Amino acid sequence: MTARILQPGDTVGILGGGQLARMLALAAAELGLKVHVYAPPGDNPAFEVAAASTLGAYEDAEALARFARAVSVVTYEFENVPADTVAAIAPHCPVRPNGHALAITQDRLLEKRFLRDLGLPTAPFAAVDGSDDLGRAVETLGRPAILKTRRFGYDGKGQIVLRDGTDLVASGRDIGGPAILEGFVPFGREVSVVAARSLDGAFQAFDLCENRHRDGILDTTSVPATVAPDTAAEAIAMTRRIAEALDYVGVLAVEMFVVPGPDGAETLMVNEIAPRVHNSGHWTSDGAVTSQFAQQIRAVCGWPLGDTARFGTVLMQNLIGDDAAGWARHLATPGACLHLYGKAEARPGRKMGHVTTVTPFRAD
Ligand code: AMP
Repeated sequence: MTARILQPGDTVGILGGGQLARMLALAAAELGLKVHVYAPPGDNPAFEVAAASTLGAYEDAEALARFARAVSVVTYEFENVPADTVAAIAPHCPVRPNGHALAITQDRLLEKRFLRDLGLPTAPFAAVDGSDDLGRAVETLGRPAILKTRRFGYDGKGQIVLRDGTDLVASGRDIGGPAILEGFVPFGREVSVVAARSLDGAFQAFDLCENRHRDGILDTTSVPATVAPDTAAEAIAMTRRIAEALDYVGVLAVEMFVVPGPDGAETLMVNEIAPRVHNSGHWTSDGAVTSQFAQQIRAVCGWPLGDTARFGTVLMQNLIGDDAAGWARHLATPGACLHLYGKAEARPGRKMGHVTTVTPFRAD
């Protein structure tokens, strides 16, 4: 097993070869580290910026062991890393964030139970393993309600809204496996906390992000979120409790609903935890002293966390599918910072890049 604290020149292993791994690799390079990316065949834009890459299956224990022996720590860009993949790596080098955090956050039911046990508010929920369960759960939670797959859901995929008249048998069949039913939260805003915890337990959060979605996919993030200061502080305190309970090392994002109450009161409900850098934290590359990518690299290397101070008011716009065709216009827009992920094909719904605009704080 290699040292707990990495040195410049050491190699960070990353599972997954998409845009998050690409931006992690670029941040690692800036800190004098090398990156080795491991990903199955597909469009892997991270390979283009990595010192080494391995094309392999997440089930290939031998290839994973070889990869793990070649690096000093392994991290990941997505939460659906199978438990057996972590088990194949763990004897050879540390996996950060740890396998327990991964197991909880890749299963919506385990995640909701974990949050409930911590005393954090969530939408009311029930486990659904078959059509009898679904009928009972709908009776308890009412309609509208949202039926979600327990695993492998992302960007609104693997979800069905059950309204009055929605056929439960067909919905259960369409969801096609173990699921969770959630009561519908009448939220006013969606926010997220992007934060990090270091190997020695220090915690740093970026300012609260406000997120708007289009067709179930993140469209824009603006910072600061338009919530009361107490609400923002509470969101960050909740995230810290989650990170500490998971003995977390690395960057995590916690998505929350802000529910308006009487007299301007705001209640927070946790929706989900992403055990990784997150799309709503992309603004940090241009808008904060330390980017979320550099923060993740610092944390998994056992290094101190960086300053999360923000330079100004920020708007991040995702470029989805054909949006990326407007790249030249963004290049010509004063103040716009364009990021393109180098993906081969602009399919509908595919994240191709993002543009961040920072309106700097005035110096006076
Ligand atoms: P998720 O995949 O859980 O992040 O859900 C995708 C989107 O669906 C969220 O960003 C919300 O806009 C919406 N959504 C998810 N769960 C609920 C809920 N329990 N009540 C209301 N809206 C929800």
